[in-house]
Amino acid sequence: MGNKLRMGMVGGGPGAFIGPVHKMAAELDGKIELVAGAFSQSAERSRAAGVSFGIDPARGYASFEAMFEAESQRDDAIDFVVIATPNHLHLPVAKAALAAGIAVMSDKPATATYEEVLELQSVVSKAALPYGLTHTYAGYSLVREARALCAANALGAIRKVAVEYLQGWLSAPLEASGQKQAAWRSDPALNGPGGCIGDIGTHAFHLLEYVTGLKVIGMNAALRTVVPGRQLDDDCNALVRLEGGASGTLMASQVAAGERNGLRLRIYGEKGSLEWHQEDPNRLSVKWLDGPEEIRHAGGGYLGADARAVTRLPGGHPEGYIEAFAVLYREFAEGLTAWQQNKSHTMPETLPGIEAGVRGMRFIERAIESNRTENWVKF
Ligand code: NAD
Repeated sequence: MGNKLRMGMVGGGPGAFIGPVHKMAAELDGKIELVAGAFSQSAERSRAAGVSFGIDPARGYASFEAMFEAESQRDDAIDFVVIATPNHLHLPVAKAALAAGIAVMSDKPATATYEEVLELQSVVSKAALPYGLTHTYAGYSLVREARALCAANALGAIRKVAVEYLQGWLSAPLEASGQKQAAWRSDPALNGPGGCIGDIGTHAFHLLEYVTGLKVIGMNAALRTVVPGRQLDDDCNALVRLEGGASGTLMASQVAAGERNGLRLRIYGEKGSLEWHQEDPNRLSVKWLDGPEEIRHAGGGYLGADARAVTRLPGGHPEGYIEAFAVLYREFAEGLTAWQQNKSHTMPETLPGIEAGVRGMRFIERAIESNRTENWVKF
């Protein structure tokens, strides 16, 4: 194991979606190793998952509380925990970890409700321990290129934005059949009050603010539940206003039949525009008012330093979802290692943290309020 950072996981048990992705991504650059976990609420399934992940069976714990308790007695205790459970556990797991002196990498949304994220923000601040949030799309090299273009004002002042995240997998009432991922996502007690708006709307919102560097200051959102009997929204259309005068649209849907993972961002400035699509992530289109369209390819030596810093392969060798996730883990590992050496070290600004978590939960809360009052809301 050498001096790799030791990771524990909560969630990611048999049949889970994102837990195994976290393991692959965390371990990709050889700086982190999964060594422990409370992978399921069932002790037996947690142990089984631990064995399938190849960890010491004694470190496949029956609960996250048992993991933090046992790990804090060990010389080779976990350095951090990743939270890959349904949303209602994000706050209790993060609080328990931070109380035990363990850093946190959490999946999004940061918590289940806005009230909870304010509590978490205060806990993170008092604990003064590293906290990262896996808004995966922030890890793509061409998202970093787009962000750098906006930061350098290459497009001129931003005037219009259009971000959409369209999926179709909840077009039928999958939750009624007990499908694992659909079941908790459509239960307000486990998911929180924002359905589609919380699950993927938050990714679209984060990408928009992350790339433009501008904060959303107002929104008029319409949330709908299209599939009969579903408890939470599954379709959302919103108008947004950003600081600096830009405005645009944010659309999220999980009932857009035929769509897979259609996250797309378009940004229009005075001098030109850019477009990036998650399903074709190695191409960035930059269009100029007075010039031809440029297609920038991931891995191109002409890309800016921010994009090149998170590129592993030469152009034409596609990098994707796992690699983008791994970029966030690499930044978390670098930040955590530096923090272990110098406790006043702050995490890299490119890595989403608790502030992004608070913004995301505020976005859900504002969208629900706007929908309820059928009106514009301020942030
Ligand atoms: P999932 O249902 O596939 O997996 C959740 C896992 O948590 C299961 O293994 C379940 O057994 C486990 N779990 C539940 N209660 C537990 C407990 N008390 N202790 C230990 N484990 C417990 O869900 P998923 O789709 O993997 O989503 C998990 C989280 O990841 C959600 O918050 C979701 O929003 C987020 N997510 C993020 C991305 C991304 O791109 N960053 C993608 C998908 C999901």
